[in-house]
Amino acid sequence: MKILVTGGAGFIGSHLVQKLLQEGHDVTVVDNFDSFYPRQAKEENVRSYAPHSCLRFIEGDLSDASTYNLLPSELDCIVHLAAKAGVRPSIEAPMDYVNANLVATQLMLEYAVRIGTKQFVFASSSSVYGLCENAPWREDDGNLKPISPYAATKLSNEYMGHVYSNVYNLRFVGLRFFTVYGPRQRPDLAINKFVNQIKRGDVVRLFGDGSTLRDYTFIDDIVDGIYRAMYYEGSRFRIFNLGYGNPVKLLDMVKIVEENLGIPAVIEFAEEQSGDVPLTWASIERARSELGYHPVVNISEGISRYISWINGGTKSS
Ligand code: NAD
Repeated sequence: MKILVTGGAGFIGSHLVQKLLQEGHDVTVVDNFDSFYPRQAKEENVRSYAPHSCLRFIEGDLSDASTYNLLPSELDCIVHLAAKAGVRPSIEAPMDYVNANLVATQLMLEYAVRIGTKQFVFASSSSVYGLCENAPWREDDGNLKPISPYAATKLSNEYMGHVYSNVYNLRFVGLRFFTVYGPRQRPDLAINKFVNQIKRGDVVRLFGDGSTLRDYTFIDDIVDGIYRAMYYEGSRFRIFNLGYGNPVKLLDMVKIVEENLGIPAVIEFAEEQSGDVPLTWASIERARSELGYHPVVNISEGISRYISWINGGTKSS
């Protein structure tokens, strides 16, 4: 297949591109090395798959219409992962999220239609559920309660995807990722921060009383789900949760990190952060039955693999 991966210098994107090249696809990557975290980390991500004879890398900002002149004129599938991620920073700078998530996705949808792409896979987020009470969360729950600008941009993107799938001959597959972790994880995410803080003997600050629950999903399972979504041939518009399906308490996650490192954490409790939800929990029944998605890496195994990777071991994906 000829595939465009946006945000391919990022955490999830770099793993996906690696897999696509291994499977023999023709891949174009576009990324603007957004300043959300250091460019150096993204350059290292790119080095995990580049150079490669079937790869073209374009540095460009997808919220700028002129970037689309640089992109291919024929594609079988677009996997649109580029976005500003992060819940809390979106409260500080909502306009940045409007540009990177709303404007860029709108331009990307228009481009997809213009060049006649048939399959558009979109990285949505568990955050669209927000304070939804009906856990485990199901894709057909209409009672979504996003509580951050980031979450609202992702939900708006899904709605616009619905419009484009309805008006044009474009299949839009929206994947709601649930807290993804593993090698090359974004530096702002909890597991990465905690591992480094515990290793250094620094204080680990937990927001709230440590009882918040997250459905953590290992990167290999997410990449498998994305790959399956690229081949999905059902409805023209479909949303899937990609989680592990088993929420883990924050304090239990820290305990697993401590056990794996063999170092006790110095914990400090801090006030809950605005935008944070008490629970995320995916129902993965739809992804199981319609995509054949079957996550296999539980939190203990995933954290062990992650720490192995951090320590330069061989258990990386
Ligand atoms: P990431 O920040 O590592 O990757 C996103 C990439 O997009 C970055 O390399 C960034 O430079 C690029 N980008 C941002 N704005 C751009 C623009 N205007 N033009 C071109 N490139 C741009 O994040 P990630 O964790 O790999 O997340 C990938 C996608 O998955 C994002 O859409 C994110 O919202 C979504 N998601 C991630 C998680 C998670 O736990 N990691 C959970 C839910 C949803």
